[in-house]
This record gives sequence, C-alpha cells and structure tokens, in this order.
Amino acid sequence: MFNGSRLGGTLIVVLAALVPACFAGWLVWQSLDGSGEPDEKTATAPAHTGEGKGESEGDGEKRDGKHGEKPDGKSGGNGRHKEPAKPLTGMTVVLDPGHNPGNREHPDKISRRVDIGTAKKECDTTGTATNSGYPEAKFTLDLARRTRTALEARGARVRLTHEGDVPYGPCVDERARKGNEAKADAVVSLHADGAPSGSRGFHVILPGSVRKGDADTRHIAKPSRRLGGDLRDAFREATGERPANYLGDGEGLDTREDLGGLNLSKVPKVFLECGNMRDARDASRLTSTKWRTKAADGITRGIESFLTGNR
Ligand code: ZN
Repeated sequence: MFNGSRLGGTLIVVLAALVPACFAGWLVWQSLDGSGEPDEKTATAPAHTGEGKGESEGDGEKRDGKHGEKPDGKSGGNGRHKEPAKPLTGMTVVLDPGHNPGNREHPDKISRRVDIGTAKKECDTTGTATNSGYPEAKFTLDLARRTRTALEARGARVRLTHEGDVPYGPCVDERARKGNEAKADAVVSLHADGAPSGSRGFHVILPGSVRKGDADTRHIAKPSRRLGGDLRDAFREATGERPANYLGDGEGLDTREDLGGLNLSKVPKVFLECGNMRDARDASRLTSTKWRTKAADGITRGIESFLTGNR
C-alpha cells in the first residue's frame, strides 16, 4: 500500500469515529439535568462495606462501626442540619449473646447450679458449634454486635449482657437480671441450635406463664409472645429462612418453662435460635458475615415493630 491511499483511509476512519462520538456527546448532554449533574447512577459509586473475608478468628473484635446500617435512607434529602427522626429514641433494648467463648475452659464454674425459680439449673453451658468448629458463642457475640449497631442507628439505647470480656458466663440468672435492671423495653437472647443434621430452620422461644420462687412470668408472657411473633416475621423476611422443621408449632414459635433466662425476666423477652449449626446448609448461612448482617437487620426490624406497635 502506498501513502496516499493510507492517508485517505485514515481520514475516513477519523470521520467515522467522530460522527458517533458527537452523537454520544449530544446524548450525554441530553441526559444532564438542569444542574449539569449526571444522574444518580453515575454519580454515586456505592461504597463497599468491606464485609469480605468470612470468619477470621479475630472476627469478634471491635468492628461494629463498619457494619452500621445507614439510618434508613428515606429521611436523607433536604434537611441536612436536622437529625432524622429515629423511631427507637428513648427505648432500651438488651441483647443477650448466648453462652461465652470462654465457657469451655471453665467447666466447673459453668456447671454450678443456680436458682431459676422453677428449678436449679447450670449457670451456663458451652453451646454448640458447626461441624467445622465455629462456636455458637462466637456467632452470638458477633450477631449481637451487628444488631446493636443497627438498633443504635434507630435511636435505641442498647446493652449487651456481656462482650466476651468476662472469663465465662454470665450465669443465666445474671443474664435475666441485666435485662431487668436496665428496665429494658425488650430483650432478645441470641442462639443457634445443635440439632441433628437435616433439622433445619430458625425458631423463637417464648416464655410460658410460670410462677414459682423468683420466677414470675405472668405479666411478660403476653407481650413476649407479641415480641416473638414480630421477631419471627421480620427475621424470616430479612433472611429468607424457614421456621424450624423439627420443633415448635411449624410457625417458628416454641414455648418453654425451663429456661432461667426467660423465667427470671420481668421484661418482655424471647430467645432466637437462628438455625441449626449441625446442619451443613444452615451452617453455611450462620458462618457467613453477609448473612449475619441480614439477620441483624431482621432482628432489628422485629424489635422495632414490637416497640413502635406498643406506643
Ligand atoms: Zn445456645
């Protein structure tokens, strides 16, 4: 090929490139609004939460702030100097992370019997673990922290019964006392179950109506049932989990009279068993940080629905 022809070819190529480029430019100009800003999709690159890498052993360390939910989004907009209304302002929630990672090292301490009104029971138990060794006690602590962050973003005052900062326990009677002393509007004790493989799903444990010794749940049984129902609905919606297929009423609710944490409570309280750690499919969810963020969101919405419905 000689030069002339090549030049001609180049010109054609340049022209061919210019026409669509101009057209594209016009299209971009058309898509700008009056302020000259591109639309939201291109303007906002969603920040990644950095949830990432599963279960490092240091998982439980203070990372709460990063998991924070944005306060709803709805109330953003114009009043940028005005605090958006927070639905749980003035409410106190106590979260009880079931068991304690240190319980395994203190078998004699946690087997001590405590009075739960209706009986004497072990101070605390070790809890279960997934087949690959992820302990329930770590799961509950992590989930409690995520839930606390979400609840605080909605204005609630949140207390945990422990932060994994005590060598073992607290004992079940002490856990109940912490909710009572905080005069909590709602208490949720977080757990995951250790049932045989094939048993799947979550359930909420409600306090039966008991009156014996220090146990008197007659006044909390009814509101706790409402809390449990709201929690069940919101948890199911947020996680897509099904109610347990192995106990309860098939609707994810089970009533018990043998748990000190419930019997000694003077405020509305339920247990949430988030799934079965011994079932591989349930375990794959329970061990996912992404799933736990969803679960925390569901728990938060359930508590919120109970508390705001109360007003
Ligand atoms: Zn448990």
